[in-house]
Amino acid sequence: MLLEGKVAVISGAAGPRGIGMATARLFAEHGARVAILDLDRTAPAATAAALGGAYRGYACDVSSRQDSQQAIAAVLDAFGKVDILVNNAGVTQPRQIMQVEPEDYEFVLDVNLRGTLYLSQAVIPHMRARRQGSIACTSSVSAQRGGGIFGGPHYSAAKAGILGLAKAMARELGADNIRVNCVTPGLIQTDITGDKLTDAMKAEIASGIPLGRLGTPLDVARAMLFLASDLSAYVTGATIDVNGGMLIH
Ligand code: NAD
Repeated sequence: MLLEGKVAVISGAAGPRGIGMATARLFAEHGARVAILDLDRTAPAATAAALGGAYRGYACDVSSRQDSQQAIAAVLDAFGKVDILVNNAGVTQPRQIMQVEPEDYEFVLDVNLRGTLYLSQAVIPHMRARRQGSIACTSSVSAQRGGGIFGGPHYSAAKAGILGLAKAMARELGADNIRVNCVTPGLIQTDITGDKLTDAMKAEIASGIPLGRLGTPLDVARAMLFLASDLSAYVTGATIDVNGGMLIH
């Protein structure tokens, strides 16, 4: 039990096959109480209620500062504290550079990068007051290798922006004993690619991965558990690759 007595907030965690839900379940197995934040259309409150007493769900569009602040206020009301934030909510789109329209840029940058900023800003005052906290942010191998897997250049830019944002937060918040780190997943089998990634494309990608398979949501959740728990007490500003060796650098 690595998270006994801890309270974790995880954004984008209501999807049954997503990384967020896998992280929520693993954290609860390790003794945490978990607040699941997600878009209203995913019914986060009902989803959390169905998972059991350790979970609560809140509708929150992380690209809205007001939603982010209201959701964290509601979590504090219910649980009394927040020890861990996992910025997991994200969206992607396959595009080539000349196809990125202003609305594509806004959609992808707003959810991934602005959302990471807003939800972090919503918990930081509370974490600062308690002089403790762990914030784990979800970047992508796309940030490191310039995409080329599924998401377009605006997705790579958003995820690279998260790396910089997280490192800057780590630097600024270290004095408050708040750690901030990133995970850079490779290709993980979830619904994020919709039906646009065919089995043939997946097999082709897997053939170039040293560990010989695509990732699972649990693979990423386990890295999140490390970053959330005291196992990583002296780790901040770090980036953990969870990509099967797809990018070794
Ligand atoms: P997913 O689509 O299953 O999960 C994303 C979740 O975010 C969904 O539940 C969705 O409803 C939620 N969401 C979308 N917009 C939101 C918003 N504005 N506010 C709050 N919630 C919102 O995808 P996933 O693969 O589990 O992705 C989780 C994270 O991992 C994302 O940040 C994604 O970019 C990142 N990632 C995924 C992969 C992969 O291969 N699956 C690789 C690298 C990084």
